[in-house]
Amino acid sequence: MQPWFDTDKVFIGGRWQRCASGGTLPMSDPSTGREIGRIARGGAEDIDAAVEAARKALSGDWGRLTAVERGRLLARLGALVLEHADALAEMEATDVGKPLTQARADVTALARYCEFYAGAADKVMGETIPFQQGFTVYTLREPIGVTGHIVPWNYPMQIIGRSLGAALAMGNACVLKPAEEACLTALAFADLARMAGFPDGAVNVVPGLGAEAGAALTAHPGVGHVSFTGSVGTGRLVQTAAAANLVPVTLELGGKSPQLVFADADIGKALPFLVNAGLQNAGQTCSASSRILVERRRFDEVTERMAEVYRGKLAAPAMSDRDLGPLISARQKEIVTGYLDLAGQGQRVAEGRVAPDAPDGGHYVAPVLLAGLAPEDRLAQEEIFGPVQVLLPFDDEEEAVVIANGTPYGLVASVWSADGGRQMRLAKRLRAGQVFLNNYGAAGGVELPFGGTGHSGHGREKGFEALYGFSSLKTVAAHHG
Ligand code: NDP
Repeated sequence: MQPWFDTDKVFIGGRWQRCASGGTLPMSDPSTGREIGRIARGGAEDIDAAVEAARKALSGDWGRLTAVERGRLLARLGALVLEHADALAEMEATDVGKPLTQARADVTALARYCEFYAGAADKVMGETIPFQQGFTVYTLREPIGVTGHIVPWNYPMQIIGRSLGAALAMGNACVLKPAEEACLTALAFADLARMAGFPDGAVNVVPGLGAEAGAALTAHPGVGHVSFTGSVGTGRLVQTAAAANLVPVTLELGGKSPQLVFADADIGKALPFLVNAGLQNAGQTCSASSRILVERRRFDEVTERMAEVYRGKLAAPAMSDRDLGPLISARQKEIVTGYLDLAGQGQRVAEGRVAPDAPDGGHYVAPVLLAGLAPEDRLAQEEIFGPVQVLLPFDDEEEAVVIANGTPYGLVASVWSADGGRQMRLAKRLRAGQVFLNNYGAAGGVELPFGGTGHSGHGREKGFEALYGFSSLKTVAAHHG
């Protein structure tokens, strides 16, 4: 895997350049633990330069483009993403450790975000508002200005697509700080935006440490909106820093998302969703379904059927494209195994395997299915961010809702039941930004607004809704006598 660009540079004002300090950080392959190259250690000076370049773009060529022209650029970018699909998928698999097929799905999602927001760019309209005699009142949706984007390492391409796609469609100029553990496709995105013809400064990418480049971006007075996806703790820091500048933030902070399986559900249909929604990307997914709530009458049956699937799951190097790859880092493996140490032997209902020939230096964790826990146990409450799911029984609808809503999170939930009335009742009662009925995740759903409540964050990305988050509404009241 040899990227076509220099990986150890920052991309500012349409140019690849060394970061101000000249420092670099190692990149490693989670499948082997080996160093695979270096990235720039961008810092506050680089963030200053990127924000300045973005400002210039807004008052220059980028700011002068019409919505149609911005849409065309995004469409071109989407086409370039697809043309580079093989290289991007290989980069993501190597950098993040996700199986090649999952990395390919992420490339498709990035292209879809570009296509969706390309088509949406010239369809964001204001309103005319009936008002007093002698007035014509209307609203305009305008770009906010410079937007800051901090993305994590689990789905770089998807999160860049949903966040920058919408921000660019609305005419903002973006500064992106990718996670230090997975920068490659963010850098590739910058180069593809250059190839697509985005004016200098519309897209800027500054890799570096969260505490340096990330903190500088979120606290920068020239940034008008911060979009952050990551942990609750860092989300708090981001919101606090943005509050000092009185700017809005979109926070997407993960969850402990439940699937509710009622006795009348089609278990055969549900089964792949129950498992895959927990194990996709080795469980390192904000919307992972890590709690499976099952009506007691069918609890043993669902447990056994899930256990059987688990026993066949294999964690292996990303390029061998098996069920799961390694976790992103030794630190993440330590977090996950630390949680697993809390489980008693009898609570480990089933386990998958790590491929015997998986390199020793890789960060592999075999998937584990847990049961016999109380809903209040830490393992059933906290986001583990690894290949671990917890099964919990319930006796009736009321108890199912109490357990489902009984964590500080509220990102996604699903209901498996043949009863239409129950589906509608629960869709209202479940505390979540998205509720799925007899499915989970809707295959990514580029078009579907996404975001959480409580500790899962606030604000919405994806779909048309994101365009409102990345714009500023102006009301114009004209008095004409
Ligand atoms: P973080 O929240 O720390 O990292 C997410 C992003 O924030 C990265 O780009 C990181 O940069 C950046 N960042 C870190 N510190 C700051 C800061 N002070 N100011 C601004 N940006 C900052 O997550 P971790 O990688 O540490 O993962 C820890 C846990 O977080 C996981 O176990 C999981 O529970 C959760 N998580 C949730 C995700 C989700 O999708 N909701 C995604 C990733 C993690 P850098 O990596 O360079 O430090």
